[in-house]
Amino acid sequence: MFSLQPLLSTDSAITEPLQPLRWSAYKAPHPAFVVHPATALDVSKTVQWANENNVSFLVQSGGNGWASTFSLDSQGILIQLDKLRSVTFNQDGTQATIGGGALFSDIVVAAAAKSTLALAGTCNSVGALGAILGGGYSNLSGQFGLGVDDILSLDIVKADGELITLSSAALTSEAEKDLFWAMRGAGPNFGIVTSAVLRTHPVSKEDLFAWTGALTFAPSQLEDVLNAIQSISFGPKMALSFNFLNLGAPTILVTPFFHGSTETGRLAFKPLLDVGPSSDGTRDVPYENWNAGSDIACIKGGRRPTIGVGLASLDLVSWRNVFNTWAELIQQPGAERSSVLLNAIPMDKARTLLESSSAFPFRRGVNFHATFTAAYADPAFDASALEYVKKARGIWQSADGLENHSTYINNAFGDEPLETVYGQNLQKLKSIKKQVDPKNRFNQWFSLF
Ligand SMILES: Cc1cc2nc3c(=O)[nH]c(=O)nc-3n(C[C@H](O)[C@H](O)[C@H](O)COP(=O)(O)OP(=O)(O)OC[C@H]3O[C@@H](n4cnc5c(N)ncnc54)[C@H](O)[C@@H]3O)c2cc1C
Repeated sequence: MFSLQPLLSTDSAITEPLQPLRWSAYKAPHPAFVVHPATALDVSKTVQWANENNVSFLVQSGGNGWASTFSLDSQGILIQLDKLRSVTFNQDGTQATIGGGALFSDIVVAAAAKSTLALAGTCNSVGALGAILGGGYSNLSGQFGLGVDDILSLDIVKADGELITLSSAALTSEAEKDLFWAMRGAGPNFGIVTSAVLRTHPVSKEDLFAWTGALTFAPSQLEDVLNAIQSISFGPKMALSFNFLNLGAPTILVTPFFHGSTETGRLAFKPLLDVGPSSDGTRDVPYENWNAGSDIACIKGGRRPTIGVGLASLDLVSWRNVFNTWAELIQQPGAERSSVLLNAIPMDKARTLLESSSAFPFRRGVNFHATFTAAYADPAFDASALEYVKKARGIWQSADGLENHSTYINNAFGDEPLETVYGQNLQKLKSIKKQVDPKNRFNQWFSLF
């Protein structure tokens, strides 16, 4: 480590790992040191130094990735991009240039000030590129598609430390085209993005508002709520998240989202409101606060093995079984804060692009993303926790309505067959990987070797 510091710019830093570094401590790597590069060149020098000294490394922006595939050895380093969190816009607000470590919260604050909209997920603390390089869904995906669809160019540090720019407007060779394609869906396997230019969507000040907030329902209303969700025709301005949460008692919490007025939002979600929520916290919310409702779920620390599945439709029997599994889990001492999440993101806009437009594999088929999280502190509970989350996955997948099980890579656990997260792109990705990272230096994220 002493030989790395002099290679870096004076604003960079190397620190001891501080805890908690990550959203979930379950299978989290324990780096020997954390490198905080201040420039793209620092990232490049760090990768070159790691290669020369045979040191393993993992890049981190938001620290929310929960995959059990991270495996730094005792000498491994974390390259934490927290000094690369800048967000700037071009003059007319149609493009944002973001640093590799920018969080969704950074983008939202800057975009709101510029009166433009960026795809910024549903949760503030998530690393923008951590999410976007795997696909990136957002409350605005119905209007603008996936995060990968808004990538215009990427500054990348490759596995050998070389710094390159890949711009959609100027890809000069097949190799560049392949790498740009692979970065957009399987990015963490191919390079470290130090900076990205994203398409953004200027709006009037009035359009910086949406109708959203929490509706709560009793567990006995589960089937009615699911039927209502499935009966709603999700227009481009809509999205929805749905949770099982323990709020003193098991509760179904649904957060509808409508990019428009309260009146139009309530009309669009009428079937859900007609079920009769026990509380209604929906209101007109400014863009800066759209993700605020999920802030509580973003706090780092604690163990949270999480399993995700893609679903074509919502099977009532399996959802009741998952509810029962979760209700049993939250009775276990220490696991009371375990939760279930479902995201309904309209895919019509994303489906206007070809499946082959990027390495994101599941534009068609999957309509819902479901995750089951066991939350607790004591590592002694790991084995039991895994039984619960895997049981829930089995229940969901038994009625997922898909030809092949398909899990959004950013929601996957790490033990899935690679086809489940890379779909039909697996062989092409493996072949590109051999060309651009033959020594498998980027080996922490659903490894393609
Ligand atoms: C509370 C919560 C809310 C979420 N909400 C959403 C959501 O709204 N939309 C959505 O699509 N997903 C969401 N996710 C899933 C999220 O996309 C993944 O957890 C994602 O991996 C998190 O990225 P991160 O930067 O926060 O995590 P990290 O663990 O820092 O990064 C995840 C992976 O990306 C790599 N990576 C990060 N930055 C870079 C970079 N600059 N260049 C190359 N590789 C990089 C890391 O090495 C790692 O392999 C959510 C997850 C959580 C825990």
